[in-house]
Parts: sequence; structure tokens; C-alpha cells
Amino acid sequence: MSALPPGSMIGILGGGQLGRMLAIAAARLGYHCHIFCPEADPPAAEVAAKHTRADYSDAAAMAAFARSCAVVTYEFENIPYEPVQAIAGLVPVRPGIEALRITQDRLFEKDFCTSRGIATAPYRAVANPADLCAAATALGLPLILKTRRMGYDGKGQFKIVSTEDTAPAFAALKSDALIAEGFIGFRRELSVVLARGLDGSIASWEPVENIHRNHILWRTHAPAVIDESLAVQVEQLATSLVEGLDYVGVLAVELFDCGTAILVNELAPRVHNSGHWTLDAAITSQFEQHIRAICGLPLGSPERLCDAVMENLIGDEVKTWPALLTEPNAKLHLYGKAEARPGRKMGHVTRLYPTGKSPQP
Ligand code: AMP
Repeated sequence: MSALPPGSMIGILGGGQLGRMLAIAAARLGYHCHIFCPEADPPAAEVAAKHTRADYSDAAAMAAFARSCAVVTYEFENIPYEPVQAIAGLVPVRPGIEALRITQDRLFEKDFCTSRGIATAPYRAVANPADLCAAATALGLPLILKTRRMGYDGKGQFKIVSTEDTAPAFAALKSDALIAEGFIGFRRELSVVLARGLDGSIASWEPVENIHRNHILWRTHAPAVIDESLAVQVEQLATSLVEGLDYVGVLAVELFDCGTAILVNELAPRVHNSGHWTLDAAITSQFEQHIRAICGLPLGSPERLCDAVMENLIGDEVKTWPALLTEPNAKLHLYGKAEARPGRKMGHVTRLYPTGKSPQP
């Protein structure tokens, strides 16, 4: 196994803020980045050496992109699978395409967790109203009906409280590739972000607690205040997942803490919003770690240097930037997006506190 030398070109599929922060981390290590995405002026292209603007289905553009890179990664899981599979014969794709195939489909993802002996919300595949009826009988009501693919930030979901919700749910979700999940009365939401290197080494940041508003992550508290035994359990299940996927890169595992049990909600095969705090409060950030992993470098230390509370700046909240810059313990990150649409992640701020002194959720 040989490490890619500085000066190599890293390809990133997707041009959003995650790609942007990956490209900045790559540049610090002396690498160049080539962004591939269909959008004009994406946040990542502004800080990268090259940008190809084309659809993922444009096979010739994808092949040319792949040939220009020493390794290709992706910053979101909702890229179509087949075009990525096609370039995997031309260039190493990390994380691998099997991890992408599994994590871009909620049903495959839950089946995979189950195969590793890891608990999730109870679930059933649903293709039509009869399946939903059977799922309601098996799982009870309420339940959440979700599209298997392409959902994010609560999109592609419908809460089913009674059988009368069936028709509106199918009308809203417009899909026959669905999954019904039992509704979990969790105590809180946690996540763990970890990395696996090309040599199989694993480095995990401590679990964090996440607070959502309108289905969008609002705040991440690092670290989560949890029992040592729960922390160990979380680390063990995350390790089992990255090993089972033969994973290379950063993976995020979203969890429901139910008090008596811990359930996996979702996997993200990439750097994750709940890992942004690592930019300012850990020895190695998730972005640097992902670049290290996919380039075959040794992983850096995930040690936390202080407590941190990360807050997303969504839509017009970004306009508070002048006040945020006057806070002595706040680190501001803006994504360079021109238009502050409602629900759009425009930036984030991480407030740093001495260890053990951060405000609790
Ligand atoms: P997801 O897109 O699957 O991460 O869901 C978005 C949010 O909806 C989660 O962060 C939870 O707050 C909530 N949620 C998702 N699935 C369930 C479930 N099975 N039971 C209760 N709440 C859920």
C-alpha cells in the first residue's frame, strides 16, 4: 500500500460545503482537488484547482474526470450509483462503491446493520398500500414512512398516525421504493464519526449529541455527556460497521439513545455535519482525516482539545455574522453561498469552552 504523494489530484463528486471543507483540508496537505458536479459556481469549486460541470450521467465527462485524478471520493451519498461504479474501474474510489450502494438505500443499510447484529428501528419494505397496512399491523402505529433513497434533512418522510394517512402519504412521497419504520420515542439523538484508513486502522472521535430544528441539524454538543459503558458500546458498533463495509474514509453513524437501548438511525458515508466541531476542537478534523484515509496516509489523532458546541447558520441566520465575529470563543465558517434561502445551510459557528464547562443541551 503506497500513500499518494502531495501534489496528487483528488477527485470529489459533489460541490457543496462538505466538498469545500475537504478541498481546504486537502490543500493544507499539498494536494489538489478536482470537483465534479452539475451546478454552476458550487461552494467547493471556489477553493479547488479544477471544476468539471456536468451531469453524473455524462459518461464521457465522468471518465475524463476519473482519468485526471489519483483517487476519487464523494461528499454526498445521493449520487447515482452506476456512474460511480463505471469509473471505479479507472481510478480508486474511496469509500468503495459497495459502501455507497448500501448507504444510499435505507433498506439495504438497515439490512446491513441487522446482519452485523446491530439494532435499528424495526422496519419493513413497503411498495404499496397493502404493504403499509401489513407494516402497521407488524410494527404498530405511529410509524414513519420514508423513501429508501434520496432523503435528507427530513425530506421524503411521512408520519403515519392512522390508516387514513395512507393515501396522502403515497401521494406525497411519489415512490414505490419505501421503508416503514416503527416510531422511536428516543431520549436524545447522538452520532459518532470515525475513520478507517487504507491499512485498516480506525480512529473515532467521541460521540456527540445532536439537536434538530425542523428536521435540520441545529446544534452539536461535543462531547455528548454519556456513561462510559454507552460510549464503549457506540464505539464497538461503529467499528463493526466500518469493518463490515471494508470502509476507507470518514463514516458518520446517527443514533437514537433510548435509555435502555441504542439504535442506529442512519449511516452517512462521508464527512458529516455533526463532525464540523472537529475543525476547531480536535487535533485532527474530520476533513483532514478523510483526506488522510483516502490518500493512504496514517490517520491523525481524533483527540478532543476542549468542549465545543457547533451551531448551523441556516438561511437568514447567516446575517448574524458580524455579531458572531465579536464573540471571543466563536469560530465562524461561511460557505460562500450567494443566496440565503430558507432551510439552506449557509455556514456554521463553533463555540469553544474549557473541558467540562460547555452548556448542556
Ligand atoms: P433521517 O432522515 O432518517 O435521519 O430522519 C430525520 C429525523 O427524523 C431524525 O433525526 C429523527 O429526529 C426523526 N426520525 C427519523 N426516523 C425516526 C423514527 N423511526 N422514529 C422517530 N423519529 C425518527
